[in-house]
Amino acid sequence: MITGKNYIGNSLSAKGDIKFRTIDPVENVENESLFVEATDAEINEATALASKAFQEYSSISDAKKADFLEAIVDEIEALGDDLLQIYTKESGLPSGRATGERARTMGQLKAFATMLREGSWVEAIINKVGDTVDIRRMLIPIGPVVVFGASNFPLAFSTAGGDTASALAAGCPVIVKSHPLHAGTGEMVASAIIKAAQKTGMPDGVFSNLNSSGIAVGVKLVEHPAIKAVGFTGSIKGGTALCEIAAKREIPIPVYAEMSSINPVVVLPSVLQKANKEWTQKYAAAITMGTGQFCTNPGLILGIASKEFDDFATNLASELNAIQPSCMLHPNIKAAYESHKKEVLAQEGYNQLTNLDTKVKENFALQNLILVSGELFLKNKAFHNEVFGPFSVVVKCESQEQLDTIIATIEGQLTGTILNADVTELESFKTTIDTLKNKVGRLIFNSVPTGVEVCSAMTHGGPYPSTSDSKFTSVGITAVKRWVRPVSFQGWPNEMLPDALKNENPLSITRTLNDVITKDSI
Ligand code: NAP
Repeated sequence: MITGKNYIGNSLSAKGDIKFRTIDPVENVENESLFVEATDAEINEATALASKAFQEYSSISDAKKADFLEAIVDEIEALGDDLLQIYTKESGLPSGRATGERARTMGQLKAFATMLREGSWVEAIINKVGDTVDIRRMLIPIGPVVVFGASNFPLAFSTAGGDTASALAAGCPVIVKSHPLHAGTGEMVASAIIKAAQKTGMPDGVFSNLNSSGIAVGVKLVEHPAIKAVGFTGSIKGGTALCEIAAKREIPIPVYAEMSSINPVVVLPSVLQKANKEWTQKYAAAITMGTGQFCTNPGLILGIASKEFDDFATNLASELNAIQPSCMLHPNIKAAYESHKKEVLAQEGYNQLTNLDTKVKENFALQNLILVSGELFLKNKAFHNEVFGPFSVVVKCESQEQLDTIIATIEGQLTGTILNADVTELESFKTTIDTLKNKVGRLIFNSVPTGVEVCSAMTHGGPYPSTSDSKFTSVGITAVKRWVRPVSFQGWPNEMLPDALKNENPLSITRTLNDVITKDSI
């Protein structure tokens, strides 16, 4: 099934000289297939096809797009165990995770198909006042989109992941810049998307999958004038670089980048009295889940100094010590974990809580928990940095005031969590909760941040640098909003309007009264 070639619309191509292999991180050996990096000519071909496909695909009916997304689900399913095998070989992630992530990927595609069949996602608004005012607004697709596959989700945030599913649902052709760490998984999924496109009569170029061994292909795609938006999940360095490239284009485009987050967790005093053990077990599991390679990994645990908080930190360390270290995605990600950890551990004044003398296999990561005082955390920003992997910092604050100051000082986050065992306590921590709310995209009560439900109400986004634009989410059906823009139709005859704006559409919101203010105010 693996050819090592690039999918350029409906064709396979391998013109380039730059070749690379993926790595099995568990065995620390190269996998067999040889992949070919896309050439400039192939990039131009994929973008030209995507532009051409946009002319047709942007106005294809929602029902047909839903058929396409559902056909992708069927074709991914038809890949069977071969897909799961290559996934585990290229990521080192266990087979249970592969099955779960495949189910999530298919669930996301189905959710967007359901959204399309329902129809209200275009937010049709009709303003009419007598015979004089008739203005109708809806959302339309923005144009061809580039999606960067994410290393830590070879399926759900990659080739047919949430970015691709939402962009295809919006009516935007997609070019995936496949992540080099799982190029084989990417190619198999790309073959499923192409089959689905052919079976459902989608235009050639509605989807392409380009391989890369380094950053050049991604940079050229983001610079390409045919591309109108970008979806990215990865490092702050990569995300920021792409935002800068996009902003410097002759016609700048949006880059929806999900980057760094340490996901603060506030342990309120009541928890320490009543549910200490329950939460230390859950948090040890959350810190080490997926070898800590989740954007929602709890990397910062905050509480107010007490003997019970010290016990909480010690118990959490014991729970972590009892967990077997697991494999990271790739030697480079392991190297990044070690070097980022080293930078933090080179600082002075913290307490090491977990054992450091456990021997781990090549590419495996030892979990690490350290304790710092609130004062030191405020003074030294090195403790604020994301260490992508099973690493967390416990901060012992001297007072609630200091706790609030710390939350106000940290950068924007995907999530913030409050652990509480007595609701009457919440009133006295109102300022803490409000401060946290202003820093995050998702405010969690009594749970762990890892595990992101794919549903309409989900916000998987947050203030910078957790994402480049806090107004959007990359998970859930409202992720489609990243790939659309509003357009208003004024005075058009009903029969010439898109279906969503016709008088007969029961889903449009008709407004006739006060929101039409004056004709010549602008
Ligand atoms: P990455 O380095 O950000 O790379 C992600 C993608 O962006 C890759 O396909 C990469 O291209 C591309 N890219 C990176 N820098 C670029 C640049 N300057 N210009 C253009 N394209 C660029 O992430 P990664 O390889 O997945 O993992 C490396 C580190 O990123 C991890 O150790 C972790 O710290 C962080 N990360 C964070 C999250 C999160 O959710 N917070 C998720 C994944 C990774 P090439 O691969 O082709 O070079």
